[in-house]
Amino acid sequence: MAKPLTDEQWIKQNSNLGPTRARLLGKCGKCGGKGKLWWVFGGERGVVQCDRCRGTGEAAK
Ligand SMILES: [Zn+2]
Repeated sequence: MAKPLTDEQWIKQNSNLGPTRARLLGKCGKCGGKGKLWWVFGGERGVVQCDRCRGTGEAAK
């Protein structure tokens, strides 16, 4: 059985690429190529599509 993720583990689903490195790899600098952004705020969690690359994870052309 999978354990529920802690907030920290939830946030770690975000790419660990920095914006500069992501750009070098041709990835979106905001989501690091994942196309999604995981957030924790006020005890709530969510995941949203990246608005910069619109979920593709690719760097803007
Ligand atoms: Zn993105």
